[in-house]
Amino acid sequence: MTEINTNIEQAILILKADDLVAIPTETVYGLAANAFSETAVEKIFKLKKRPSFNPLIVHIGSIVELDRIAKNIPPLAIELAKAFWPGPLTLLLEKTELIPNLVTAQNKTVAVRMPNHPATLQLLSELDFPLAAPSANPFMSVSPTKPEHVKKYFDGKLKMILDGGFCSEGIESTILGFENNNAVLYRQGSCSTAEIEKITGKLLLPKSDNSTPKVPGMLKRHYAPKTKFILTSNYKKELRNHANKKIGIMLFSAPSELLPNISFRILSEKESLKEAAQNLFATLIELDAMKLDLIIAVYVPNKGIGKSINDRLERAASL
Ligand code: AMP
Ligand code: MG
Repeated sequence: MTEINTNIEQAILILKADDLVAIPTETVYGLAANAFSETAVEKIFKLKKRPSFNPLIVHIGSIVELDRIAKNIPPLAIELAKAFWPGPLTLLLEKTELIPNLVTAQNKTVAVRMPNHPATLQLLSELDFPLAAPSANPFMSVSPTKPEHVKKYFDGKLKMILDGGFCSEGIESTILGFENNNAVLYRQGSCSTAEIEKITGKLLLPKSDNSTPKVPGMLKRHYAPKTKFILTSNYKKELRNHANKKIGIMLFSAPSELLPNISFRILSEKESLKEAAQNLFATLIELDAMKLDLIIAVYVPNKGIGKSINDRLERAASL
């Protein structure tokens, strides 16, 4: 049985014994291990069935810990960390010897951030090591934003889930790298690019060569429910194409009319993109559990955090 509780002392004991604890963050729940311990980190890859080419994010509790994790840190990175941490911004920096290659998937860079969640910040402040933590879901599936989601994925295979309630942001962190003191956007996420660009100027996009993607989290298919999933801007047309099916529709705001036998799920009654982001994965997980023939998702307005929501929807719909 996997326990869901708020016992930080218990989490510390488990982590010190090189075992895993699921932790809350403001983005999604993470599957955490001692980032300095290869034995512990290996357990993350095994439990998630995550391929070893997919690196993990290292979580720290205060900015001073950066020096143990990264070196030759660009001044721009420090400026960004001071502006956005704790918060959903991950920085790719040159790694130190203390970080096992397993954590970075043999990359010379390590991904690091300070999560903005009181329980996890307290946990980190009481540990003398940082926590490597990818999202607490099996490889490719939808990221968990509530402790019950993690339990459903890993019940019996994990000792403890630290209960931190419903994740406030609901979408993974924004990931930035650096080239010649310019910032490069590797993953859209819940830290606003408009806010970041006030500090960095226009963000660069990664060079697209056909070699291995530098950020495997950008895998084309990701976040996918098990149910057949279509993304559209016109759900009425899709309904005509799929008559006599059990259908769930996920859309940003309330539809003009409800239809019989169709399960509608609204991401934000008050038409807030922030609320829609928080509800996105929980709604997908809920619809996926309803044994439908088809889930139809509708694009949300493509501005601000809406761009990150649409990015996740496109990856979920990708074959
Ligand atoms: P997750 O926490 O599951 O969203 O996964 C973390 C993601 O961070 C990975 O899938 C990568 O996209 C990215 N990442 C972590 N470390 C690195 C790194 N050293 N270089 C590039 N991307 C990284
Ligand atoms: Mg993930």
